[in-house]
Amino acid sequence: MPTRSTIMDTNSYRGDGSAALPEADRQLIERREQLLGPAYRLFYQKPVHLVRGEGAYVWDAHGTQYLDVYNNVVSIGHCHPAVVEAVERQMRTLNTHTRYLHEGIVGYADRLLATMPAELDQVMFMCTGSEANDLAVRVAQVATGAQGVIVTREAYHGTSALTSGLSPALGSGQPLADFVRLVEAPDTYRGRDGAAFASDIKAAIEDLKSSGLGFAAFLADSIFSSDGVLPGEQGMLREAVDEVRRQGGMFIADEVQPGFSRTGEAFWGFARHGLVPDLVTLGKPMGNGFPVSGMAARADVLAPFATTLPYFNTFGGNPVAMAAGQAVLDVIQQEGLLQHSLRVGRILLAELQKLGDKHENVGDVRGAGLFIGFELVSDPEAKTPDKQLALKAVEALRERRVLTSVAGPHGNVLKLRPPLAFGEHDIDWLVTALDEALDAVLDKRPAGSR
Ligand code: PMP
Repeated sequence: MPTRSTIMDTNSYRGDGSAALPEADRQLIERREQLLGPAYRLFYQKPVHLVRGEGAYVWDAHGTQYLDVYNNVVSIGHCHPAVVEAVERQMRTLNTHTRYLHEGIVGYADRLLATMPAELDQVMFMCTGSEANDLAVRVAQVATGAQGVIVTREAYHGTSALTSGLSPALGSGQPLADFVRLVEAPDTYRGRDGAAFASDIKAAIEDLKSSGLGFAAFLADSIFSSDGVLPGEQGMLREAVDEVRRQGGMFIADEVQPGFSRTGEAFWGFARHGLVPDLVTLGKPMGNGFPVSGMAARADVLAPFATTLPYFNTFGGNPVAMAAGQAVLDVIQQEGLLQHSLRVGRILLAELQKLGDKHENVGDVRGAGLFIGFELVSDPEAKTPDKQLALKAVEALRERRVLTSVAGPHGNVLKLRPPLAFGEHDIDWLVTALDEALDAVLDKRPAGSR
């Protein structure tokens, strides 16, 4: 079986230039490889050794400051003091599992559900996005009595046995579940609109049904992050989700990427499209670095699973995790981060689109709030993906102290997704660095390949 990987490998360290690294970093890489084994990837040909973070910035072991344009885990900012204080306070008071009464989990559940449509009226807690998706798929399969799940062609939904089988982004070394069907994500740059997407969803459902698996769920990250950051226009997914419902399936909105104000246009990615999911999975930004995840559901969807199977997750929903979650919601509200993401995201998008006009190898610049895809192509007419250019641009940005990476089936889309602490004053650093990086990498290419 070939073990070529795609998205997980695109920007990874290969060790070619290890001789040029500082001795301390080289030793740390060696110890890491020895002790952790070969599954772990490091970003960059010259890996970054980080020691500290604040807001949208991180610092390496040599004291160099970087602009973080990649991180949606510490979504409200690195080491946000409100989260640090809430976690510290609760850690000093009590931390235990969910089999005792505690106000924290109930208060947070109430607060979290208030951000969602009224139909979603129950929530369960775990620690990672993988666990949330794993549970949601099981819930949908029990609720529908069917097996089949549809995901997009380059989706990533997690690392458990179940969710890795629903994650083609892991590459050809990862066997896909026999009950999964893949559909191409909608991509308006390449002329794939909501109607084309809905028609592919319909065909995939029919295939699942005719193969005897039945249709349980359509599981999607509505900003299609690993498919290449494809926000599309608001409402684009309605037709597809209507089809899912007509055919008796569940729509599971994976909010690990677009949730918690990231897109600026709505608190949740599904809400950008005017959708009410049957199940919603949450992760990364939920605890701003503290491992918290959740699965919200309609009570009637959850009941067939939850009345037959108990659920216990040792760390999920513990008082410290709930304190972190509460603090994140407080900060998003108090600092107006939804409005901030929309406002700063629009200014940034416009500036990046100007770069697109200047450099002909920029095929498309698209985004919602502070989540922008910057697509690089070798031929703008043919829209030919240029992975090598994107990888060189990522390395050239790193030299200019801007951290990001790539996305998409061809690894040619720069994923620009800073912590929401990224301010208007940071735009110049990013845009100037990207402009210079493109100049540098395009000049280095042999004439004829430009
Ligand atoms: N869903 C999506 C859309 C993701 O991007 C990720 C993580 N990259 C996951 C699920 C899995 O989350 P975790 O790594 O916390 O298990």
